[in-house]
Amino acid sequence: MKLYEPITLAMPLAKWIGNFIMERGHLPSGEDVRETMKSLGLEEICLDKGLAVFRGRFLIALVFPRNGNLVIDVISSSGELSDALEVVAYHDKKIEAFVVEILPTNDLEYEGNIGIEPIIIDEESLELESSPVLGYFEEDEEGMFLVIDDETYERWNEADDIHTCPICGGELAWRKEKAYCADCGYGVKVVRK
Ligand SMILES: [Zn+2]
Repeated sequence: MKLYEPITLAMPLAKWIGNFIMERGHLPSGEDVRETMKSLGLEEICLDKGLAVFRGRFLIALVFPRNGNLVIDVISSSGELSDALEVVAYHDKKIEAFVVEILPTNDLEYEGNIGIEPIIIDEESLELESSPVLGYFEEDEEGMFLVIDDETYERWNEADDIHTCPICGGELAWRKEKAYCADCGYGVKVVRK
C-alpha cells in the first residue's frame, strides 16, 4: 500500500474502521487504532492524554477521541492543508447506526461525499446499510489507483453512478476493470476476490 496524499491513508483507514465495527459491534479503541496505524507503516511520534500523533514519509495523522467519537486528521507532512482530511466515526443514536465518514477540511471545494457514501452500519444487525466506495491505493505503470473489491463495486453499481469519481467527484472513464479520473489524476481498479 502506498501512502502519499491524505486520501491514500483516509480511505483504507475508514474501510478498516467500518470492518472493525461490523465484526465487533463497537468503535475501535485508541489502542486498536495505534496498532493499525503501525501496521500501515506509520511511526508513532507522540502519545499524550488521548492524543496520538503518527508520521509517515509524506503524511502526519492525529488521532483524537472526542466525546466518545473517533476523529483522525490526516495532513501532508509538508504542512499543506488544502488536501487535509478528517476521518470521523461515531454512534448515531437517532438513526440507530454507526457512521464513518471522510470529511475534507476544506469543504468549499467538494460538496459530495468522499467515497461516494458514508459507511452506515445498523447498530443491531451490524449490516452495512450504505454503499461506500473505499479501498486501498496501489501504484502501477499507469498511475495511482484506488483498489476496490468486486463486492464494493457491485454495491456501488446498484446504488449510484459509477462514473462519479469516489475521490474528487469528477467524471470517471471506465475501460474494463479500470477507471480513470482526469480531475484528480487517480484511478479506480476493481480486483475480483
Ligand atoms: Zn477524481
